[in-house]
Amino acid sequence: MTDFRSLALECGFTTAEKLDVSTLKFLSDVRSMCAADRCMSYGKTWSCPPACGELDYWEERCKAFSKGLILQTVGEREDSYDFEAMMEVAEENKKQFERYTDILREKGEDFLAMSAGTCTRCEKCTYPDAPCRFPEKLYPSMEACGLFVSGVCMDNGVKYYYGDDKIAYTCCILFN
Ligand code: SF4
Repeated sequence: MTDFRSLALECGFTTAEKLDVSTLKFLSDVRSMCAADRCMSYGKTWSCPPACGELDYWEERCKAFSKGLILQTVGEREDSYDFEAMMEVAEENKKQFERYTDILREKGEDFLAMSAGTCTRCEKCTYPDAPCRFPEKLYPSMEACGLFVSGVCMDNGVKYYYGDDKIAYTCCILFN
């Protein structure tokens, strides 16, 4: 049986801490933040609202799992304006997430992964003109599922803010 935590650390995540699935709250306020489109992803990929599905759909899907892990990639930055460093850490997080979920899928594990941001697998997403090119590798972000990421971390005793000289990208996985 896969040790989800050890594998996450082997894939490069900085932290892999226990997530109590019962703490997850699927908030319409978070969806409203998506709709405000500050991240410029709303309505642009299959992984984001409105295409990714309603909140109650994700709540039901998450209920099928009893265990979880909060996964973080924490990296250095000079200050909160150091966008180059933040992009590099975000890219590293995406690679770790892909490596981790690819291995779990190849092993035939049943899991639900939620990423730290929108899907950027393809240079240009097919949305809305054609189906997703990789539906088996399509994961919504935690926010797209209505989860307030800092709240999820706080509810599970996991650090979210590591100081101005560090940046953390947070994703999660649910399993049984
Ligand atoms: S895998 Fe490609 S087509 Fe599918 S959501 Fe991601 S970017 Fe879009």
